[in-house]
Amino acid sequence: MSTTTDADTSDDSTSTGTETGLAAETAAGPDDGVLVVEHLTKRFGGLTAVDDLSFAVQEQEILGFIGPNGAGKSTTFNCITGTYPPTEGTVYYRGEDVTGESAYDMVKRGMARTFQSFAPLYDRTVVKNVALALTPDKLFSLSGLRGGTRDRAVEICERVGLGDRLDQTPGELPHAGLLRLELGRALATDPELILVDEPFAGLSNQEVGEVSDLLADLRAEGLTLVVVDHNMRGLLDLIDRAIVITFGSMIAEGTPEEIRTDEQVQEAYLGGEL
Ligand code: ADP
Ligand code: MG
Repeated sequence: MSTTTDADTSDDSTSTGTETGLAAETAAGPDDGVLVVEHLTKRFGGLTAVDDLSFAVQEQEILGFIGPNGAGKSTTFNCITGTYPPTEGTVYYRGEDVTGESAYDMVKRGMARTFQSFAPLYDRTVVKNVALALTPDKLFSLSGLRGGTRDRAVEICERVGLGDRLDQTPGELPHAGLLRLELGRALATDPELILVDEPFAGLSNQEVGEVSDLLADLRAEGLTLVVVDHNMRGLLDLIDRAIVITFGSMIAEGTPEEIRTDEQVQEAYLGGEL
């Protein structure tokens, strides 16, 4: 475990993120955020998918997590949320070392995620899919004895904009509807932190705006979010801060404007759309 705690590293966004030594500057201690990832590395055989990545996520922040396809974004999420154990490094959630804990335990701690490829139960209705994702012990505390599972599931469906599609099956939903369902299933676990993997893929510009509004509302209600995208489309207006990775390593960190004008970011995208 590392003890990198630079005394003079400011905790707000005054650092430019474009100087050398970025990785060392951004290495954080266990209590430096809701979620702190320290020197995370994941290897698959000879391939290093995530390479000594360190970052922290602050309470009620929307952090953008950007990088080209294959950069290691989903693998980072997989290592944080218990899908894969990291090869090296430490994950702290609310100051506790949770490295390698199961996905189930992460959910119990208040961490939820959505997957890039949706996997609802296609033979169940929308509301049933959400109901099945509800965490029983939390349901009890939320709704008390009189609150029914269905009532809570309906509430969540309405929250994500599926109130008029409760009894449809996932197969009847448009792509954006499946994403909303995926968010609903994540919300059903009553999370404090949601990791959202590529929500904008396959959406029209209007849908990107609608989903951004929903994510911004969730933050306003107290949630902390990390939102992945492979470019900046739709993210700029939504996020407070972004981290850009290529080949599993961080190349930039800063406000959306700082990221957009960052030379290394522009090089990584070879002049492509940001
Ligand atoms: P991103 O989400 O940024 O597009 P990924 O995290 O999915 O990227 O993938 C990063 C790299 O790790 C890619 O080269 C991918 O092929 C590889 N990878 C991801 N998951 C596995 C796995 N389970 N086994 C082997 N290689 C993997
Ligand atoms: Mg991915």
